Parts: sequence; structure tokens; C-alpha cells
Amino acid sequence: MQDTKSQPFSIDHLAPSIPDFYDDTTHAGAPQSVVSERNRSRTLWHLYRYGISSRAQIAKTLGLTPAAITKITARLIDADIVAETGDMKGSKSRRSIGLIINTAQFHFIGVKFARSLVQIGVFDLKGTRLSLQDMPRVSDDTIDAAIAATHKAIDSLLASDPNIVAIGMAVPGPYLHGTGYAALVSSMPHWRNINFQEEFGRQCPVPVFIEQDARAGALAQRLFGELEDAGSLAYFLLGEGVGLGVIENGRLIYGNLGASTELGHVSIDAINGRKCECGNVGCLERYCSAGAIHEQIDELGIIDGSADMTHIEACRALFSLAEQQNDNQRIGKARKLVADIGRYVGYGCVIICNTFNPRRIVLGDIGALGGQRLLKIAQNVVDERIIPEIVQSTEITLSGLPTDAAVLGAAATAITQFLDHPSYFLAKRPPGNTK
Ligand SMILES: [Zn+2]
Repeated sequence: MQDTKSQPFSIDHLAPSIPDFYDDTTHAGAPQSVVSERNRSRTLWHLYRYGISSRAQIAKTLGLTPAAITKITARLIDADIVAETGDMKGSKSRRSIGLIINTAQFHFIGVKFARSLVQIGVFDLKGTRLSLQDMPRVSDDTIDAAIAATHKAIDSLLASDPNIVAIGMAVPGPYLHGTGYAALVSSMPHWRNINFQEEFGRQCPVPVFIEQDARAGALAQRLFGELEDAGSLAYFLLGEGVGLGVIENGRLIYGNLGASTELGHVSIDAINGRKCECGNVGCLERYCSAGAIHEQIDELGIIDGSADMTHIEACRALFSLAEQQNDNQRIGKARKLVADIGRYVGYGCVIICNTFNPRRIVLGDIGALGGQRLLKIAQNVVDERIIPEIVQSTEITLSGLPTDAAVLGAAATAITQFLDHPSYFLAKRPPGNTK
């Protein structure tokens, strides 16, 4: 482990991937230090997923020798990441001591940049929210002030909470990992001038990890969504932008520059569609992002005063109107618009199925507030437009996490790195700061 104390932290130090802790096939030929670190990570993932476990249980699941597990856990216990819980009940072996992760004493800041809104939350290792603050709303000409306010908020949190070990940030896609820039932020061109790595990664006393928002959302679903089969998962983000994060065999898909899975810029009407800032025509984002939905609400005059609302307020009002029991012209228009949005979401799901064939698609963020009404229409489109075997083997659900889970996704990016690369954080923890 190199001494990085005097160096600025950057995501470049770590591979932007998550381990499949069931995978025991990638060790051949790897240096011993890499194998050791990977086994430490797999041990942590096991404890994270299954809770209190004995050394024997971990060794059996991971296919490691008791001696190896003893060595791995000794290091984690020394660093106070893992603790012994005493004898486990019901154990048949002579003596079986339970191990558990000290989840409460590792805190993570999550920062969500969502075009017009910046949110900052603090979470523990298990995603329990300790605090959440909304920064003042951002317009395209107040981005510099928003960045300054974000720095100030982060500095204040770091000063008041010594248990914060890392910061995760979620930024709109396409986010180019190699450069640190978000390549396109629709209707907010000044965000494109911000190099997130330079701006936040340099001179920060804890490591900062930056991720495209939909990928961060996929990580949050994997960590906190209580899903089965989370190793094959597509998170379909329907927020201020439309995005997609795909986990395949336990790993996120990135592409060459980190700009893959940009579903929001896949065209659903390549000739007559609405023009998009990316250069394409008929991009999905122009039809079912919160901004696009808001535009349609305003055009149709469905909600009184909608022009003065934020996107999320306008969308909430629309979805709530569509659920009203009585009938009138406005409610009819609202239901028709929700049906249109549901179909667009369905077209997106068809593209996801045919491109990635995930086991599960999770609809998240503002669009998911459309609830079962929207989901049912999207599911009907999928049922009609893809082959039955894929329909039957793909589960489409609404996110079970709260709508502001986007900021949890930002934290999930840092938490995932913690579980992936524990030694990196062991080296970072200042002496005397282990309790
Ligand atoms: Zn586009």
C-alpha cells in the first residue's frame, strides 16, 4: 500500500467497479497483495450482506481456508472495521464467535447534483441517513455560487464529524470518468465547465468518488434495495434527466469513456422527434424527463400555476390528479398524459431489455411517483414489444427507496468503494480516530 497521505485523493486511485463476492475465478496469476485485498473485500461484502457470521461460515461461503480467514479478519478487527460479537447461539462447533461490521462508526457524505438542485446528506455504512440538506436552487448562472456553497457545506460536515471517511458524488450523465466533466447537462450548459474531479477531488482530506447519477442509483439499489438477483440490474432513472445504470455480473457497465448506457439520448423518433441538445432527434429524455413532463403539463394547462412550480412539484401534482376518483376534463387530460409518459417509459424498458437483458429493471426518481398506473402502462408496452421469454424473465418494479434516494446513491458510490478497497481506507484513518 503506497503512502498517499500527502497526495490529493482522486478516483483514479481506484478502479471504478464493484466486486462480485461470489466470483472466485479472477485470482489466477494476480499478485498476492491483490488477492489479499480482494479477499478482505469479499469478507466485508459477505458480512455486509448477511450480517453476523462466524469465521467458519465466511470461509465456507468464500472457499477460503480457516487460516486465511483468521488472518483477514485479524486485520479488519485491528482497524476497527469489524468487531467480534461473542459466541453465536445454536452453533454446533466447539466455539464460534460472531463477526459484524461496525457500520455505525463509518460515515459518508453523499452529494447529488441534479441540474437545478444540489442535495447533501450524511449516511452511515448501512445507508442510514444522519442528515440531509438542500442547497439553494440552482439556475444556469448561479452554478459558481452553488459550487462555493457545496464546498462550504462539505467543510462544515467534515469539521463536525470525524467519522466521515469518504465523499460520493452523483452528477448528471454522460459523465466522462477520464476527464472529470459531465459532457452534457441539458438546459444547464454551465455545468459543463465544471471539472468535478479538480473542483472537489483536490485538497479534500477524505477521498472523493464521482459517479454518473443513474449508475450511483444502481449502486444504491444493489446496496439498499433489498432485491434478489441484484447482480443483474438496470436502474432506469426518471429524474430531471433520464439515465440508466446497468449492473451485469455484479459490475457496472461503463464503456470506453464512461459514457455508455446513456438511455436518455437514445432516439424513439429519429425523423420527426423533438430536437435534443446532444445533437440527436427524438431522444427519450425529451419525452419522459421531469422537465419534459413539466413542459407538457404547462402546454396542456392541466395544473393551475404549474409554470411557477419546480419540476418535481409539477410532476407530483400531475400524478396526484390522475389518481383522483371523480372524472372531469382536467383529470382526463392528466390520465392521458400519464399514459403517454408510461408508454415512453415502456419504450425505454424495451430498449433496456433488448440491449442488456437484465433480470430486473427498477424505475426510480421523480417518474416513479407515477406509481402503479404508470408502471402498468410501461409493462403493457414491454409485453407487446419483446419476445415472451424475455418478458417472463424480466421483472420491472418501482424503486422501493424514497424519492430523495438519489442522494443516497451518491453516498452508495463511496460506500461501495469502501467495501471494494478496505485497505485504502485503513491507511487513511487517522490514528486515534478508530472509535
Ligand atoms: Zn439527446
